[in-house]
Amino acid sequence: MKYCRFETDAGPQYGEVVDRAGTLWIERLLPPFEEDPWTKLSPGRFEPVPMGTVKLLAPVVPSKIVCIGRNYREHAAELGNEVPKEPLLFLKAPSAVIAAEEAIRIPALSQRVDFEGELAVVIGRKATRIWPDEDVRRYIRGYTIVNDVTARDLQKSDGQWSRAKGFDTFCPMGPLVTDEIDPDAGLTVETRLNGEVKQHGTTSDLIFGIAALLRHITAAMTLLPGDVIPTGTPAGVAPMQQGDRVEVIVEGIGTLGNPVA
Ligand code: MG
Repeated sequence: MKYCRFETDAGPQYGEVVDRAGTLWIERLLPPFEEDPWTKLSPGRFEPVPMGTVKLLAPVVPSKIVCIGRNYREHAAELGNEVPKEPLLFLKAPSAVIAAEEAIRIPALSQRVDFEGELAVVIGRKATRIWPDEDVRRYIRGYTIVNDVTARDLQKSDGQWSRAKGFDTFCPMGPLVTDEIDPDAGLTVETRLNGEVKQHGTTSDLIFGIAALLRHITAAMTLLPGDVIPTGTPAGVAPMQQGDRVEVIVEGIGTLGNPVA
């Protein structure tokens, strides 16, 4: 199933998304997920609407965003880093989340703000210490797209990455969540800046696959429903300027587009 979260006169709602002859429609409302007490299922009849006509919200309300650094060989190399021996984790602030088409704001504190297009896992069930032989799929609600926006200069000068990765608007997410894809089979991850292809990778090049990532993370911390795990970015990261438009496209999910302000 595919779903999105969107604004209505009655407040935020979740909706099932279906493909009708090449156009995505919100077909029916869905009950809200347990991690989101702010959304109430609106009673009454719902008339299907094209997804392109609503104001989308980020499709997930995460308690935390656990990112993976340097999980593509060529991206590690382009920034002069070694390939890590085990997954490199960092946290991104949930307050940085914005929806598709909301503006990424370049902070005055940084001289270089990069896009990082990424496939992201959405957790569907509480997970603590997933065993080596356990099937991780039971913990996965689906997949979405994250742009792991990064103040590259502050990432270097701070040493710690929390500020560089955590500015408000630095976590565009969406447009929807789907469980109809298999990243292990290899999905194209592409980022375009003003229409020009800047990143073009495939999830088959992930150094640590999704099962290994979930085991590694849950050996340290419990993952809760709605938590989001951006899995790392392919080579080709580059800076954005005010007035740009950035789009991250993941095969089988769609396009996460944001203006830069
Ligand atoms: Mg990243």
